[in-house]
Amino acid sequence: MMTAAQYEESIRKLNLQVYMFGKRVENPVDNPIIRPSMQAVAKTYELAERREHEDIMIASSHLTGKKINRFTHIHQSLEDLIKKSKMGRLLGRETGCCFQRCVGMDALNALSITTFNIDQKHKTSYYNRFVKYLEYVQNNDLVCDGAMTDPKGDRSLAPHQQSDPDMYLHIVEERKDGIVVRGAKAHQTGAVNSHEIIVMPTIAMSEQDKDYAVTFSLPSDTRGIVYIMGRQSCDTRKLEGETMDRGNVLFGGHEALVVFDNVFVPWERVFMFREYEFAGELVENFASYHRQSYACKVGVGDVLIGATQLIAEYNGAGKASHVKDKIIEMNHLNETLYCGCIACASEGSRKPSGTFLVNTLLANVHKQNITRFPYEIGRLAQDIAGGLMVTMPSEQDLKAPETGKWIKKYLQGRADIPAEERMRILRLIENITLGTAAVGYLTESMHGAGSPQAQRIMISRTVNMKEKRKAARKLVGLEEKD
Ligand code: SF4
Ligand code: FE
Repeated sequence: MMTAAQYEESIRKLNLQVYMFGKRVENPVDNPIIRPSMQAVAKTYELAERREHEDIMIASSHLTGKKINRFTHIHQSLEDLIKKSKMGRLLGRETGCCFQRCVGMDALNALSITTFNIDQKHKTSYYNRFVKYLEYVQNNDLVCDGAMTDPKGDRSLAPHQQSDPDMYLHIVEERKDGIVVRGAKAHQTGAVNSHEIIVMPTIAMSEQDKDYAVTFSLPSDTRGIVYIMGRQSCDTRKLEGETMDRGNVLFGGHEALVVFDNVFVPWERVFMFREYEFAGELVENFASYHRQSYACKVGVGDVLIGATQLIAEYNGAGKASHVKDKIIEMNHLNETLYCGCIACASEGSRKPSGTFLVNTLLANVHKQNITRFPYEIGRLAQDIAGGLMVTMPSEQDLKAPETGKWIKKYLQGRADIPAEERMRILRLIENITLGTAAVGYLTESMHGAGSPQAQRIMISRTVNMKEKRKAARKLVGLEEKD
């Protein structure tokens, strides 16, 4: 396994084509806007080095028996699935943001199921190919970016009906040695902190869409892959140096638009090629795994609740009964989310390839709660924090002799707490509910791993209504009827 420092060096060696603010970023690792996100991924390595987290962070490979980082593991039991949920919460709490590495873990696990199933039907050999690739990922302890979301163009049209055929990533050429693909993947979490990119279709496909039913992996710096960094609210505060105005002064996340400009993929990296009838299955399994992964929001919730409790105390309001009650409500909501990600793991099941998959219904219910509860937790945090969170002067003003004395005097809360400490905590609440980390804690809770409606469709499809109808009829003395 790599150490956090080795991970950083390995990313430094990549020759990624990254653009931000209209310019090429030659050195993403040291770029002040990108670096905190690299540090968040590095945490997935650092925690694996620590004895106290060994049980959660380290697994033993079912292929080689070697110790591997759980982010590269294929779940072999319900216990593995439960540990995955715990790992998400732990890292969310340690970083206070999106630590990005789950998308690759979820893609690997979804592929381990679907490549096997395709082979059963088509007598292909995708599973063997995939296993070889997996061994490479595990042995080198790599970060994979799982890329699913296409730009989608006109939502009322199928991929092959779009006026621009590139609105969904597709095969443009079939060669002896591989294929050429074109298109883009949007909102790619952790894209420029990844060694590899795993591309999957974004929706179920029909035969007419078969050129869009393609899955493959590539090194992230393959020729023709272009990364255009997404903006985040308050991102340029990171250009102000080590300022506490960043809120979270250590970590962050990032998303990028990833363009595939006629990119060549060798056959050994292709895991689905026009088997359109398996696109839906792959999407559903990946989505279910990633909906479970939103255990991360519980960890970020821990940070936000801690910050809210602190600011209540610093304001001298920690003992007010309505404040106490609001903190209870925040914890109730956050632990309810935790119940969801533990439940879908505990009720998982073994698939034909041997991989354990979460309970799809419960994973979707969990993610549906995630589209709501963090907003309520955030609302309560802002309620308790007070308006100062968004009207406070900058750190420069705190440090400047002309203004610093006034800020220290008038932004003082409880006498024993320096104004600066109070300001730091307020900035953290601002960061998670309005700033760069709000991307991960709020909007991503809404739209990441599929927007709310996607989960409602899955809930209606997977819930057993027949059983419920029967139960009701039985209790009123009506005979069971199908
Ligand atoms: Fe992982 Fe959460 Fe970020 Fe998704 S949003 S990659 S689950 S940390
Ligand atoms: Fe996500």
